[in-house]
Amino acid sequence: MIDISKANRIVLKIGSSTLTHPQGFINIRAVENLVKVISDIKNSGKEIIIVSSGAVAVGMGKLGGLARASDLPSKQAYAAVGQCELMYLYDKMFSVYHHNVAQILLSADITQCENLTKNVVNTFNRLIDLNVIPIVNENDSVYTQELMIGDNDNLSAIVAVMTGADLLIILSDIDGLYTQNPSINPGAKLISVVGEIDEKIHALATDAISDVGTGGMVTKLQAAKYAQDNDISTYIISGKEPDLLYDLFEGKQVGTYFKKRSEIND
Ligand code: ADP
Repeated sequence: MIDISKANRIVLKIGSSTLTHPQGFINIRAVENLVKVISDIKNSGKEIIIVSSGAVAVGMGKLGGLARASDLPSKQAYAAVGQCELMYLYDKMFSVYHHNVAQILLSADITQCENLTKNVVNTFNRLIDLNVIPIVNENDSVYTQELMIGDNDNLSAIVAVMTGADLLIILSDIDGLYTQNPSINPGAKLISVVGEIDEKIHALATDAISDVGTGGMVTKLQAAKYAQDNDISTYIISGKEPDLLYDLFEGKQVGTYFKKRSEIND
């Protein structure tokens, strides 16, 4: 296991179901608790980059908590409304702890064009120098599927690799990887440590069944695999209990830990 006290730059992915109630309205207590703990971790000297989902769900909630939008213009409109609301809330809540935030919206071309990558990495580094917390999302209101990464699990791993992070933490509605989908199989067991993310591991995951989550465990494992292959460790932990982040940084075993490549090869 990595010595977490040595992890300096950390990418933290926050899922929709952590931020919102099932109808899409903001879960104020959850967001407040998370912001408090993240602020404290930043105060302890860590560099934090957040990848936050939730724009579409928050937009839907703000415009009346309608059923999940299925057509593209509606989804893109909800994302535009929700992204504003989400950043407003983050800005307001982080400012209580004297932290500044910045919005960075990315799309798939970030991985395809070297100049773009270089440029955005410089922006990330400068924001961190300025003690700002970058908050990343995909530019959902502008791009269509073929230009999108498609989910924020994979986006968070891309950001972690791009920015040379030491650790990726995915906060989810579930407290880690189970032997089977625990929403369907109550007997499923939590797996504490994963080495090589191979076909057998991928086979444990299915899509999400929550109304606001996207990608389920499938995209989380893709993200952990991309991080692993680029020598970055990943944790999947529950976003419902932000205090678990304190446990993690105190070296306790929390959620599921995915080893980085050099740990497997050791
Ligand atoms: P988030 O919105 O937090 O990103 P998702 O709802 O998209 O989370 O994904 C987590 C969900 O993935 C779990 O609640 C569960 O329903 C589903 N899942 C599928 N397979 C597994 C598995 N093997 N272990 C844990 N969760 C799984």
